[in-house]
Amino acid sequence: MNYDRILIRYGEISTKGRNRNKFIDKLRKSVRIALTNFPNIKIEASRDRMYVVLNGENSQAVIEKLKPIFGIQSFSPAIKVAKEIETLKIKSLELVKSQYSEGNTFKVTAKRSDKTFELTTDEINHLIGGHLLQNIPGLKVNVKNPDINLRIEVRKEAIYLSSETIPGAGGLPAGSGGKAMLMLSGGIDSPVAGYLSMRRGLDIEAVHFFSPPFTSERAKEKVMDLSKRLAEIAGGSITLHIVPFTKVQQVIREQVPENYTMTSTRRMMLRITDEIRRKQEGLAIITGENLGQVASQTLESMYAINEVTNTPILRPLISMDKNDIIKMADMINTLEISNRPYEDCCTIFVPASPKTKPKREKVIQYESYFNFEPLIQEAVEKVETITIKPGREQRREFEELF
Ligand code: ATP
Ligand code: MG
Repeated sequence: MNYDRILIRYGEISTKGRNRNKFIDKLRKSVRIALTNFPNIKIEASRDRMYVVLNGENSQAVIEKLKPIFGIQSFSPAIKVAKEIETLKIKSLELVKSQYSEGNTFKVTAKRSDKTFELTTDEINHLIGGHLLQNIPGLKVNVKNPDINLRIEVRKEAIYLSSETIPGAGGLPAGSGGKAMLMLSGGIDSPVAGYLSMRRGLDIEAVHFFSPPFTSERAKEKVMDLSKRLAEIAGGSITLHIVPFTKVQQVIREQVPENYTMTSTRRMMLRITDEIRRKQEGLAIITGENLGQVASQTLESMYAINEVTNTPILRPLISMDKNDIIKMADMINTLEISNRPYEDCCTIFVPASPKTKPKREKVIQYESYFNFEPLIQEAVEKVETITIKPGREQRREFEELF
């Protein structure tokens, strides 16, 4: 079927009152970036929907590009038809025929925003339904659960026909929600946390703690590859801050009783991330924490660790099951990278029996015998900041645009 436009439904953003225009502009920008390789397309946005006018571009290829864009609830390839009944009949038949396979059921759903049109919605349903039944042997009506739902929308400028509704990525448009720092390890969880945050419209910068020579260059490459995937998802580049963490970890090991080193390590990571956040003017910190998975992620642990800052900590995975997190990691293509075997800075000094219920007062007391502040400042000053660009294909599209 030769579609000539794709109708995009906003879903949630259309409920955003006065902010609506801002949201629509952000979405339009995301769509434009994703479709840079299609020079002929035109984007038309109105208050309640957006059209990508194809002007001869391949509809299937465009659909693939629209699927990952945040802020799209669903979309439908559509045909624009002149407001003329004979043409409507011909085009409706053509469209349903192209979707029909043996034994399929159908219904017609007409909608009319132009009340001056010569037929009412009921009349359209009957007329077109009858025409289809006459011309497609074996086709049957099913109003409750049809295989094919032919939508006929009569608007002021034309009639639009569509029959497929393809789910979009959901969420809110990129960049519509402010900036947050993602604590990115090489594990499975934190990239997924980054994905979910971006899906809610947040801009993210990644922070990774690196402890050479205990963690290898390979571990760093892994985090760079994860960041690259996140950049592709974001449709632009991502800033990655790599924090030299060896000294801090060594001092913790010397100063803090072994069963509290993990709690203290997490507290120092959080303090440093918060410092970077302040410099970068972010408003929150995101982690891949998930309640109860490991010793550092019990509620008692979070209570002891979180004490070092009152910056909002977003934990998108907090209540998810591990299986679902893994499925999502697979879907966004980070799982394979995360599964590479290289060690993380937190796993190298892991004590034999970390406290699962650390006490806030105790960790504060242990840390009070040493002034960590200069070490934290030093780590922040020595941060290596890298701009990670999307993979080759996406990068080319991006550069062509700017
Ligand atoms: P992940 O799969 O994200 O590593 P996890 O289940 O292994 O999570 P932890 O290793 O306890 O859990 O880490 C909890 C969170 O702390 C991570 O999701 C991440 O946000 C942060 N984190 C852990 N290690 C690092 C690191 N080296 N650099 C930056 N953030 C880290
Ligand atoms: Mg981990």
